[in-house]
Amino acid sequence: MSSVVVANIGELVIFEPERPIRHDAAVVLVDGVVQWVGDDADAPPADARVDARGGAVIPGFVDSHSHLVFAGDRAAEFEARMAGRPYMAGGIRSTVAATRAASDDELRTRLTTLVAQARAQGTTTLEIKSGYGLTVADEARALRLAREVTDETTFLGAHVVPAEYASDRGAYVDLVCGDMLAACAPHARWVDVFIDSGAFTVDEARRILLAGRDAGLGLRVHAGQLAADGGVALAVELGAASVDHCTHLTDADVDALADSSTVATLLPLVEFSTRQPYPDARRLLDAGVAIAIATDCNPGSNFSSSMPLALALAVREMGVTPLEALAAATVGGARALRRSDVGQITVGSRGGVVLLDAPSHAWLAYRVGVPLVREVVGGVR
Ligand SMILES: [Zn+2]
Repeated sequence: MSSVVVANIGELVIFEPERPIRHDAAVVLVDGVVQWVGDDADAPPADARVDARGGAVIPGFVDSHSHLVFAGDRAAEFEARMAGRPYMAGGIRSTVAATRAASDDELRTRLTTLVAQARAQGTTTLEIKSGYGLTVADEARALRLAREVTDETTFLGAHVVPAEYASDRGAYVDLVCGDMLAACAPHARWVDVFIDSGAFTVDEARRILLAGRDAGLGLRVHAGQLAADGGVALAVELGAASVDHCTHLTDADVDALADSSTVATLLPLVEFSTRQPYPDARRLLDAGVAIAIATDCNPGSNFSSSMPLALALAVREMGVTPLEALAAATVGGARALRRSDVGQITVGSRGGVVLLDAPSHAWLAYRVGVPLVREVVGGVR
């Protein structure tokens, strides 16, 4: 066992329900898990001491939505989009071809680099989806690799219909629900479907999600990225842990979310990178909907893994305060993963603590683009 005390904390954001913030505080972690939170003057001794220098300390970010197992890049597609070409889901297929052609080591090297970059920006809990293999073997491989770095793995065989099934969508949905699910479920905690006019219909998604649930997986859904597509109602009906994007919502969608345990996960880096209107976080919070903010880091619609930038965009463009945005990026993400052991700083928390070169969490939005994360302490799977 090794213990470390993080002392001299000016502002400690803990996200306990009655008390989100403490001042002049300290935290003790043992083997990466929080064991004590209290006043700095009362801090017990530990094997090591980290000085927060009077600055702010926040929970490790929970990035509940990413796609990090892939090869190649789509910088040319991004340049074309910035020159005026619209975003379409079909670009995913070019990443599928590159990913299938890559070796395990190539995929692993890319994946571990991306995970290290995320941690350097304060992310200590990371969900990672498959979805660039789209064969039984390639989807199972992606999830095996993802499992090497996180327990929050998601089977996304239903990302797009691969080119070889373009004339027989039904056969591909059968494969996803059958042999592919059987090969992937042992490596996955979740099943997800991309509902979009360029991907899967609500009826196809229902079949795939129910099959995943029968295989013991929790449910997540991509819906409402480019249009109000009926996916939110399906996610709520099936009790999905999270419905992600939620950029285009009907009033009925908002009401349904407010009456449910399904989290609305907002992905503002996608709107930034595709030059689209942002989701309305204020409308959701005012309606009583639980929200999360995540990156959706992927090679196509957004290749940023920066939770601080996602948070800043939410503050600047989506009508929430810095504290509301930070909550959505930490405890909200934890809720979207049905986790109570990350996203907060309370005894037993496994998500680590993040020391900022800033006196207040608000600086994450105030000093946008500046690397304020000085050190990440703790955080264990
Ligand atoms: Zn996604």
